[in-house]
Amino acid sequence: MPKQSHLHCSFCGRNRDEVRILIAGQEGHICENCVEHAQEIIAQELNLKVDSTPTNYKLTVRKPQEIKKFLDDYIIGQDEAKKILAVAVYNHFKRISQKIQKDDIEIEKSNIVMVGETGTGKTLLAKTIAKMLNVPFAIVDATVFTEAGYVGEDVESMLTRLLQNCNYDVAAAERGIVYVDEIDKIARKGDNPSITRDVSGEGVQQGLLKMLEGTEVLVPPQGGRKHPEQKMIKVDTKNILFICGGAFDGIDRVIGRRINTNAIGFNVNKDQQELQRKNLLRFVNAQDLKSFGLIPELLGRLPVVTHLDPLDAETLRSILTEPKNSLVKQYTRLFELEGIALTIEPEVLDFMVNKAMEYKLGARGLRTICENILTDAMFEMPGTGQTELTITLDYAERMFSSSKMNLLKVA
Ligand code: ADP
Repeated sequence: MPKQSHLHCSFCGRNRDEVRILIAGQEGHICENCVEHAQEIIAQELNLKVDSTPTNYKLTVRKPQEIKKFLDDYIIGQDEAKKILAVAVYNHFKRISQKIQKDDIEIEKSNIVMVGETGTGKTLLAKTIAKMLNVPFAIVDATVFTEAGYVGEDVESMLTRLLQNCNYDVAAAERGIVYVDEIDKIARKGDNPSITRDVSGEGVQQGLLKMLEGTEVLVPPQGGRKHPEQKMIKVDTKNILFICGGAFDGIDRVIGRRINTNAIGFNVNKDQQELQRKNLLRFVNAQDLKSFGLIPELLGRLPVVTHLDPLDAETLRSILTEPKNSLVKQYTRLFELEGIALTIEPEVLDFMVNKAMEYKLGARGLRTICENILTDAMFEMPGTGQTELTITLDYAERMFSSSKMNLLKVA
């Protein structure tokens, strides 16, 4: 008998011909199955160790009012969205922790859709909630998905992102939050399903259905398309909360049409009509989203609909200074670390807000504007021994006009 057939795995005892790979050690051998098994044990052990550290994903469930309060520290305004999210998230985690009861009342998932202009805080809300609850979080863009078989990403890739963000802690990922941005971009084009069959819109919505409802998905750990050799990770989405967001450009017209139709025969006075026109978004409901092109099945799995208000100058001004990690607080800290006391005069804040409004950049633009004004100082001051910096309106205007912001305006 050839010598090789005596070789066997010292761990499981399998013979050489029963395994594909046998790795030699000093005294014995190990087969590929045992290596894999050992790897799993190591992963589990390491996770257990991580468990005991405060950075681990230990769910901290809070009452709706506490959730809202926490959100208030980071997000200005948007009270209705905060309240609705707080309740939805609270119910969601109550549902997860519920013990199986005899009466079989099944609490459904409270996946959420947020409708609001870009830069009004949708992502920030979702991110802050995940931070507060200490659950894994992933942001994905609905526009990259295509129906299986077409160029683009499968919807499963959103779970890859979630797994990557929590270091492949599957149990944690299974009660994580996924924020699906630009959900409006996968709306069916046109309200009549028979005219066009668009793979990138309706097909993706179909693909999302099961995932949103809760199903076991085989996820490629490194993303990309599935291929036979890749080892998949099984993720159950039953307890993953999906929060979708979109600007839904033009939905105000849809809402307006509906409200006016409904108003026929009712006594709606001029003032009320004016008020309604001003911020129609606050009346958004699932019916409007359907008219916009989301399929009813998808809407059925997104039972909570809320809106975000457009940001006015006053809100932008507060965003600059009030949140726990507001831009002004961040820059002050950056200079402080350099031993420099930064003062930004109040007129400068107004100037920044005006520019953000003028360039229609919303809150997201505030950061760019701050950078434009402060970059020179951040470049020049370190090492000069100076201990104070006051940003005056004159200085801010000069810095701003020599920046590249004008190009932005053209774009
Ligand atoms: P959206 O997802 O609605 O497009 P984001 O949440 O990404 O907008 O907002 C962009 C940035 O603008 C945030 O990172 C945050 O700095 C700021 N921002 C927007 N809205 C608010 C708000 N209501 N309160 C505080 N900051 C805000």
